[in-house]
Amino acid sequence: MLPRLDPQELVAPLYQDYAKTLSLLNFTGDISTSYGARLAVATDNSIYQQLPQLVLHPRSQSDIQIITELASQDKFQAIKFSARGGGTGTNGQSLTPGIIVDLSKYMNRILEINVEENWVKVEAGVVKDQLNDFLRPYGFFFSPDLSTSNRATIGGMINTDASGQGSLVYGKTSDHVLGLTSVLANGEALSTSPMLVADAAELAKEDTTLGKIIKQVLATSVDKRQKILAKFPRLNRFLTGYDLEHVISEDLQTIDLSRLITGSEGSLAFVCEAKLNLTPISKAKTLINIKYDSFDSALRHSPTLVAANATSVETIDSKVLNLAKQDIVWHSVSELITDVEDKVMDGINIVEYNGESPEALAGEISVLTAQLDKDIANETGVIGYQVTSDLASISKLYAMRKKAVGLLGNTQGSQKPLAFAEDTAVPPENLADFIAEFRELLDSYQLHYGMFGHVDAGVLHVRPALDMCDPEQEIIMREISDKVVALTAKYGGLMWGEHGKGYRSEYSPEFFGEELFNELRKIKTAFDPLNKMNPGKICTPIDSTEQLVSVDAVKRGTFDRQIPIEVKDSFKSAMECNGNGLCYNYDANSPMCPSSKITRDRRHSPKGRAGLMREWLRLLENKGVDILSLEKNIHGWSVKQLLDKVKNRLGRANQQDFSHEVMDAMSGCLACKACASQCPIKVDVPDFRARFLNVYHSRYFRPLKDHLVANVEQLAPLMAKAPKFVNLVLDNKLYESFSKATIGYVDTPLLSVPTLKIRNERNGFERFDLARFKSFSTEQKAPYVFIVQDPFTSFYDADVVEKLMQLIAKLDFKPVLVPFKPNGKPQHVKGFLTRFAKTAKNTADFLNQLHDLAIPMIGMDASLTLCYRDEYKQILGEKRGDFTVSLAHEWLISMIDHNKLTINQKLLENNTEYKLFAHCTEKTALAGSEQEWVSIFKYFGLTLNKMQVGCCGMAGTYGHEQVNLDNSKGLFELSWQPKLADINAEQVVVTGYSCRSQVKRLADIKTRHPVEVLLATLV
Ligand SMILES: Cc1cc2nc3c(=O)[nH]c(=O)nc-3n(C[C@H](O)[C@H](O)[C@H](O)COP(=O)(O)OP(=O)(O)OC[C@H]3O[C@@H](n4cnc5c(N)ncnc54)[C@H](O)[C@@H]3O)c2cc1C
Ligand code: SF4
Ligand code: SF4
Repeated sequence: MLPRLDPQELVAPLYQDYAKTLSLLNFTGDISTSYGARLAVATDNSIYQQLPQLVLHPRSQSDIQIITELASQDKFQAIKFSARGGGTGTNGQSLTPGIIVDLSKYMNRILEINVEENWVKVEAGVVKDQLNDFLRPYGFFFSPDLSTSNRATIGGMINTDASGQGSLVYGKTSDHVLGLTSVLANGEALSTSPMLVADAAELAKEDTTLGKIIKQVLATSVDKRQKILAKFPRLNRFLTGYDLEHVISEDLQTIDLSRLITGSEGSLAFVCEAKLNLTPISKAKTLINIKYDSFDSALRHSPTLVAANATSVETIDSKVLNLAKQDIVWHSVSELITDVEDKVMDGINIVEYNGESPEALAGEISVLTAQLDKDIANETGVIGYQVTSDLASISKLYAMRKKAVGLLGNTQGSQKPLAFAEDTAVPPENLADFIAEFRELLDSYQLHYGMFGHVDAGVLHVRPALDMCDPEQEIIMREISDKVVALTAKYGGLMWGEHGKGYRSEYSPEFFGEELFNELRKIKTAFDPLNKMNPGKICTPIDSTEQLVSVDAVKRGTFDRQIPIEVKDSFKSAMECNGNGLCYNYDANSPMCPSSKITRDRRHSPKGRAGLMREWLRLLENKGVDILSLEKNIHGWSVKQLLDKVKNRLGRANQQDFSHEVMDAMSGCLACKACASQCPIKVDVPDFRARFLNVYHSRYFRPLKDHLVANVEQLAPLMAKAPKFVNLVLDNKLYESFSKATIGYVDTPLLSVPTLKIRNERNGFERFDLARFKSFSTEQKAPYVFIVQDPFTSFYDADVVEKLMQLIAKLDFKPVLVPFKPNGKPQHVKGFLTRFAKTAKNTADFLNQLHDLAIPMIGMDASLTLCYRDEYKQILGEKRGDFTVSLAHEWLISMIDHNKLTINQKLLENNTEYKLFAHCTEKTALAGSEQEWVSIFKYFGLTLNKMQVGCCGMAGTYGHEQVNLDNSKGLFELSWQPKLADINAEQVVVTGYSCRSQVKRLADIKTRHPVEVLLATLV
């Protein structure tokens, strides 16, 4: 039996006392002390793992002042903090053994915009894409870019001085900060913006914190000016630390403390609000994708492209290109980067031109393309190019480029591409030679790696593949780090050219030299004399004996290596999450992780769930439990098991079981499977979640509703024997209150009347007779199509199945309703894996028999049909067989593509612009599905537009469970409701049964499946 797992690493008494005291003050935010909440922020995208003591989620600047003032009391002086935004740092920047102060959960409001003066004021937790979505209608954007723009916060960007594509023109974050409102470690608020040196000198005379800070800053920046100018590299990138060069203007007339805070990695102050300047959106953009025979050719060509006045030049090598080709993202860009006949494409440069109008760009583009034509003819390494000015295509290309860093993590084997030397910057003219030597270095260790970067700025992204579970390779990682620091220095650059220093802070003293490093320390002393703010990062106060953090710090591998290899292999997707945070995607209209979006709780994200799962596996191993054998020994139920569960329920000690924390995170998951395809590593939460639930409930009772859901496929056919009577009961207020109170199930859907069986007979469709079909010749079988039933559409939405069959008949095929066989997905969702295995085997055997008849099979519900492809494979392996069940659109498009679809009817003239609201599982697992529906509609003379929507909030039975009701409604309000508000009901087509019932339930709109519209078009 699953043992009880003691909570690990309890909160230290000092921090417990602090949390308790804080809870008694006017602090309005959240205080999380649970192990799970702390674990969820113990990692970022780096190789490090550091468990904090507490996690605080302030709601306002005043909350942050309460936090810091309390920590300034004598008894709490040892308390340390690190601010956290998206947690996307690649070098452990936000990790701390103290308190994580997460500003992303609540402090994410856009406060004010002033279009006349080109600025916006935001809270620090605003996500970069959130800001740009807000600014777009005003014709502006916040221009410093970064790959993590859909989850990185403005606070994080400021503190790492983030920049990326287009930085030559648009600059770094620091170039756009007009002013900051921050809170110091002692609780004092600090407003910073440029001020005259003369005024600053007056303030420096005051015996206040601000006076001390200014006094030090003036002393350092003026007195050491020449040394600073000599030391700070002439690069487009900032060197991370305190920007001693730009804190004072070139003419030495103004100082701006914001410049020091920018890039300080949270080591000086909490940034609460920022006033940022805005850049007008260019009216025209053109992208030229230049293809090369080698990465080296691409690199060597880039200075020419920069000289050709390009706005930005981005390079991608073949390894990254190939990874992108295997990802769902490729689907959106494949037409924009096509292969070159008879040539191998081993690198590309993406060159962007921006301007006021297409005409203004035309001259520069034609000069460049003429040159490219010559380069191709002269075989200089350029093998082809493609030009696009379509804004939608351009954003798809950049989305692919942005996903590339994450994709680097998606490689087979135990050696994973790791971020520790991934953001080197050298002067662009040295880049090709630098990379050649960098490659020699990595090759000397026989390491695999992919490369891409902002070649215009000399920045290169490289993630060498290493296994941090192997202590020997940890040593190699340290050796390579040291060598890359030396190599970048040799080429006049920096190892930390873009993503900040974090655990690489140990290199600071050597890099700055003793004299300037001491100046940094003096500045730190003025801001944070007690070393409370992200201690160990950048530098320590001048008199402090505390140490800087080092690349030798404890890594995630230290924990992961405690899990046996077979277990790691078996729970691969939980193990392989690399923490890049793409699953925190803020965009309500993206399908990626609805539970993360609605809760804004990091535990309720794929990353959070994967992290908890890893820890669960580690703790089990430490308890001597072989999880794989334990799983094999979970069968049905027994009296002993029942008694054990009663004991476990009653035993007080069981309240303290880490498994409950894992359970808590798993139960919020909608099992929508967006993570399984959208995450660059394909972390498949529903897979390991089902396995966890299976094991968890071998120790603890299941709630009644789990049994109801798992049995829905058995109950629905029984209830459908007397649908009117059952509906009478279900549609009764008394039943609703009873169901809510006992099972925790709400808004129970009503059964279809008449039933599908009756409709089938009424339409005169042929009945299923296996023996008869077996006796048919190939020609006889040709017109038949089997309809594979699922419990939801067959019993609750029979009208849609009937219409599909009518459509098929009108298209001169013969639809045949196959007898209902449970699919098992509801059992899988609730983790009844033994039962699911049996169901899957029985149904697979049946469907394989049908498959042998070579008659196409169509399933109506996306998530159940796709379950045959995915979960069946996982549980049955080879035993699954080869049967295929297509979704309606897959069958229709293949008929169209093979010229097998003839429309003999007149098509009704119809100018309606239909809007497609696709099911999440369908559109994420089958990337082309929406476009295929568009093509099918076109074939029928209809116009269909894809709607960008996230999750509708229903997801099978999730939205019917009372505990999920608020989140289900909240999710609907986030994305579907506003999109539906703008259009007429008859325009709406919805592919998912769950989604249709959610729209009916919450917006009272009856929507149609696309096949219903197609049928109505045939007259
Ligand atoms: C796949 C991937 C691609 C990336 N690409 C880029 C890129 O193109 N360009 C780039 O510049 N970076 C890139 N990064 C690095 C990272 O995304 C950036 O550093 C980003 O700015 C961090 O923002 P965040 O909100 O996630 O901050 P976090 O990681 O949470 O924090 C970063 C640092 O800022 C501090 N901090 C955060 N908020 C505050 C605050 N309110 N007050 C004080 N301190 C604060 C933290 O203490 C920490 O030191 C990439 C990372 C990944 C994983
Ligand atoms: S689950 Fe996937 S997207 Fe989320 S952090 Fe892990 S690897 Fe990244
Ligand atoms: S299945 Fe859906 S809700 Fe669950 S973790 Fe994955 S994306 Fe999030």
